[in-house]
Amino acid sequence: MIYMRGIFDDWQAQGITSVLHEKSGGYANNRKALEGLAAKAEAEGVRIVGGVTVTGFSHDSSGAISAVETDRGNISCDYVVVAPGPWAKQFWDMLQLPSTISIKNPQSGVITSDIPMWIYWSLQEGTLGVDPKLQQTNDGKMPPVIHVDTDAPLYSDVDGSLITDKMWGIYYKPDFHFDGIQGGAAPFIVDKSADAVAVDPYGPDSPEFIVGEDFANMWVSALAHCQKRFSGTMAQYKKEPSGGIGAFTPDSFPLFDRFHQNCYMIADSNHGYKMIGVGKLVAEEICGDNSRLLEPFRFSRYIEGKLHPVSNSPFPWS
Ligand SMILES: Cc1cc2nc3c(=O)[nH]c(=O)nc-3n(C[C@H](O)[C@H](O)[C@H](O)COP(=O)(O)OP(=O)(O)OC[C@H]3O[C@@H](n4cnc5c(N)ncnc54)[C@H](O)[C@@H]3O)c2cc1C
Repeated sequence: MIYMRGIFDDWQAQGITSVLHEKSGGYANNRKALEGLAAKAEAEGVRIVGGVTVTGFSHDSSGAISAVETDRGNISCDYVVVAPGPWAKQFWDMLQLPSTISIKNPQSGVITSDIPMWIYWSLQEGTLGVDPKLQQTNDGKMPPVIHVDTDAPLYSDVDGSLITDKMWGIYYKPDFHFDGIQGGAAPFIVDKSADAVAVDPYGPDSPEFIVGEDFANMWVSALAHCQKRFSGTMAQYKKEPSGGIGAFTPDSFPLFDRFHQNCYMIADSNHGYKMIGVGKLVAEEICGDNSRLLEPFRFSRYIEGKLHPVSNSPFPWS
């Protein structure tokens, strides 16, 4: 509380489990960041061909991938790298990898079978249409992302009703691109088998996986819970479609591994920008240098019981 009041004099959230305040963090617009990366790749002589849909893979007699099948014909290849984001399950199925897996408990050694390889989480994001400068710090600066996890009861900023008395979490930042305070709340598991989830149309175009009034009420109330300056701003919440789904692994950690001898899969389990350096490590692995950093993220970790710590946070990627 004292630390946060030193940054925002209206900070009022008490009993917080954790606050992540990235002193030197920042924000990059996703499209612009990717355009920058594409330009760097093209400057190295890479040719990027967009608008091609992969429909399957052809294998040679040894089981290695010999061609990528697409809606524009087959493309023969020596090596395939797939980084499909929320479409991980579609590629997993095309690669004929198992839809369920077995996981060994590292403590007891007990193996549990039939665990779905992919589950979807619905990510909750939106924008409060206030002046982004409203969020300036006591010394007049623009802060980076604030991330709060807490089990304090959350009450509606509109009518004082209880929204939740369970663990909740939010993140938010001033955003000049979206012109407001942009952020989100803890995602929730999509209550359907992965086969029944329609990933497309994706994101704001999805009729199913966009945030609604419940999110607006929760998130803006949570902002007001943390900082008094957001109290009474519910009417300024931007009612536009936002959010999306993510394909998560059973332990919500990324999967970086080689399949069928010559197919490298980068399944980031929705971990986002912090995975950006993985491309270099994967390129080194493909060229023959095994990466110690990527080793904990192999597919074999499940059956070998070499699992990652389980987070207490309501966020699956914390
Ligand atoms: C609502 C939301 C908010 C997020 N906010 C953040 C954030 O603030 N910070 C952060 O770091 N991360 C964030 N993420 C996570 C981040 O967007 C993902 O982790 C990241 O985009 C994954 O990158 P990727 O390159 O692995 O996959 P993607 O960026 O998803 O790229 C996969 C590509 O595969 C293409 N594709 C799919 N199927 C086919 C096919 N059959 N043939 C050919 N191409 C195909 C898709 O069109 C897409 O271009 C957010 C995610 C969501 C849903």
